[in-house]
Formats: sequence, structure tokens, C-alpha cells
Amino acid sequence: MAEQIQPIRGMNDILPTEIGAWQYLEREVRELVTAYGYEEMRVPIVEQTALFKRSIGEFTDVVGKEMYSFESQGGESLTLRPEATAGMVRGVISNRMLRGQRHKLWCVGPMFRYETPQAGRYRQFHQLDLEAVGYAGPDVDAELIALTARLWRNLGIQRVRLQINSLGSSESRKAYRELLVSYFRGYESRLDADSRRRLEGNPLRILDSKNPEMQELVAGAPLLTDHLDQESREHFDALCAMLRDIGVPYEVNPRLVRGLDYYSRTVFEWINESSGAQNAVCSGGRYDGLIAQLGGEPTPAIGFAMGMERVVALLMQAGQVPAATKADVFIVLNGERATSMGLGLVERLRNELPRRRFEINLGGGNFKTQFRRADRSAAPLALIVGDDELARGVVGMKPLRQETGQTECPIERLAQGIEAALASLGCA
Ligand code: ATP
Ligand code: MG
Repeated sequence: MAEQIQPIRGMNDILPTEIGAWQYLEREVRELVTAYGYEEMRVPIVEQTALFKRSIGEFTDVVGKEMYSFESQGGESLTLRPEATAGMVRGVISNRMLRGQRHKLWCVGPMFRYETPQAGRYRQFHQLDLEAVGYAGPDVDAELIALTARLWRNLGIQRVRLQINSLGSSESRKAYRELLVSYFRGYESRLDADSRRRLEGNPLRILDSKNPEMQELVAGAPLLTDHLDQESREHFDALCAMLRDIGVPYEVNPRLVRGLDYYSRTVFEWINESSGAQNAVCSGGRYDGLIAQLGGEPTPAIGFAMGMERVVALLMQAGQVPAATKADVFIVLNGERATSMGLGLVERLRNELPRRRFEINLGGGNFKTQFRRADRSAAPLALIVGDDELARGVVGMKPLRQETGQTECPIERLAQGIEAALASLGCA
């Protein structure tokens, strides 16, 4: 046998046994975001590397060490998208969608980051991404958070909590940044390599460190919330009041900074209570400066990304995934004439009952083999199409999950007969 080609580490196949959870989640998401007025927009998976460098920021983990970048045959530096916001914003600008207009947009799809694969952390993973472009908030901030809270409710996910914070304006952040640099300089020997690198480039990132040894230093650092500008303070207070009014519980986490550089003012994260370093299920924030930074007219905006794999895992844990789709009817064939007429018969049934799932025995086999396949199909009902029955103008019908005997149904009333039989088996 030829040598097998291995899958890429950290890039998973989603198998038919798991796809039910994904399809359920995608259906729920699509319905909910549509109900909040978000429109789907699909953008490419590959963009110019410069897009991510300029938006996410050079000193972030994502740009610093996690990007899948390559040179195209034309010599351009391209990158598989590590997140969706940059591409969505690029799309809004390239398609001249701004001009004073506002957009609520969403997309879902694969993202790529060269991380250490582990449970809940992969190199190809999927995000649901929402962006409200042209909205200054704080009302839209609250609405976006309300949407996520409703999603957990609809999905039956309970063990997640909301943390919020404000990063202030870029001016107030500059002043805070200096405070932070002088604080961490005082402990330079205790900083790990990552943090030392960040001290030069972007000291706020140190607050986001996942290294437990940094926690004590981080805990003593000055708080951004104590250094907010007046307008950001008012924005944040108004957001908190709206969340209380809507009835969405939250915690203010003054050390929540988020892993990407482009955020300003509101940031939020939904945390799962049990899964360690992979505990963020949904993260977002306001990025009022990004659009101008990418060459568009200055436009306020906010968005979030939800990690689909992490939500699927929560759904599985909560036992919230509806049963997998299965066949409604399995067709067993008995005899030469029946075998040659079977497919035609099922095609006619598919015309008449387009929503029903028919599985016809393919590839021959004796009665016993065919009934074993019927059993595996999980269909509640079998049709027995046999030469004897056909000669009398009927088809046999037998419930597969109940000890009920076989009945017969005239071929010309087969569609109605199937519906009636399925209804009596509880498959309306
Ligand atoms: P983390 O702190 O877990 O590294 P992050 O801050 O890098 O997350 P974002 O860039 O904000 O995450 O992405 C939004 C969401 O995407 C996260 O909340 C998480 O649910 C999910 N996510 C991020 N990276 C991965 C990954 N490598 N594998 C699976 N899901 C991921
Ligand atoms: Mg990360």
C-alpha cells in the first residue's frame, strides 16, 4: 500500500458524527443574527499580509508569531486570515460601502493561526464574526452583547460569564501606557521574554499574558479604568446602565485588554468557567480608529468573534445537540423486476415528498443484509418492494422500531400511505 498522507497538525476534519452540532449551531446563529438585522458578507480567506500587520498590530502574538504567510507566484506577501475583522473592514472600504452609511454585517468561516494545538486551540478554527460599522454606541455595544447573551440562552449554554472593560480613547491610552511602562520597568528582571518584548512595542499586551508567573506583577499594575478620559468614562457608564436595564449580568474586569491592537473603549469577553487557558468563547470590542487606519473615512465600529469549536464543545457538554438527521424510509428490494424498478419508484416518491429522506438499498444483497442496512439507517419505516407485491400492484410497509406487523399499500397511493405510516410512528 502507498504511504498515507498525514493531516496537518492542529487542522481537524469535522466528521459526520460531529456535524449535527455544527449545523445546529450555524442554524441558530443565522436565525438570531438575522433577527437583529445583521447581513451576511463573505470575504476572502487570503489577504495581503500588510492588512493584518497594519490592523492587528506588529507586537501582538497573532502577527508576531502565529500567521500563515507565504509569497504568491506573483511575489506578493499573502496571509491566511487569522481573524475576520480586518478582511471585513477592508471589504467595506474596497466596496465603497461607507459614505456616511451604516452596516451590520456578519460572516462565519475558518481562521488560521500557528499556535500550539491543544483542546480548544487549533491551527485552523472557525469564528462567527459580527461587525456594526458606523455606529458610535454605547447603544449598539449593549445590543451586540444582548445578542450574544440571547444566543447562549437559545443554545441552553449556562456556564459562561460576561466580562467588560473600557480601553478609553487612544489619547488616554497613551498616557496610561507611560504609567504602565514605568511600573513594569521597575520589575524588569521579573518579566518573561514575551513581556520584555512587549514592554518596548505594546506594554498593554503584558496585561493579557497567559504566563501564571506574570500574574502577580500584572495584579499590581495601575488600572486603565482609573485613567479613562471623560467621554470614554461616560460611554462605559452608559453601557453598564443599559446592560443592567436589559438584564444581562456582567463583571467589570479592569485588566481585560484583548489580544489585538485595534480596540478602543468597550471590550468584552464571554468566559467559560471550566476550560483553563482556552476559556474565552466570544471576544469583542469597539475599534473606532481602525477604519481610518486602513485608509477609509473615519468611522466608528464595534464587533466580536465567537470561537465555534469552543461553543460546539459547550453544546456537547450540555447535551444540547439535537439527534442526528437520519433516513425516514429505507427501501428493501426483493427480486429482479423490483431491483430494476426500485430507483424509478423512489425518484417518483422524492417528487411527491421532497422533504422526506429516502434511502434505497444499493448494491444488491439478500434480505437479511438489506434489513441489517435498514436497521443501521435508523429509519423508522421500511418499504418492501418485491416482485410478488409489484405483480399485485402493492408495496409492503413495515415499522422497523416497533413490533408491528407488515402491511401493504397500493402503489398509486404510496405517498399518502407513507405519510400516514410515518405520522402513526411519531415522525410527522
Ligand atoms: P485566546 O485568549 O484563547 O488565545 P484570543 O484572544 O486570541 O483567544 P480572539 O482573537 O479574540 O481570541 O478570537 C475570538 C475567539 O476565537 C476567542 O474568544 C476564541 O473563542 C476563538 N479562538 C481564538 N483562537 C483560537 C484557536 N487557536 N482555536 C480555537 N478557537 C480560537
Ligand atoms: Mg490567542
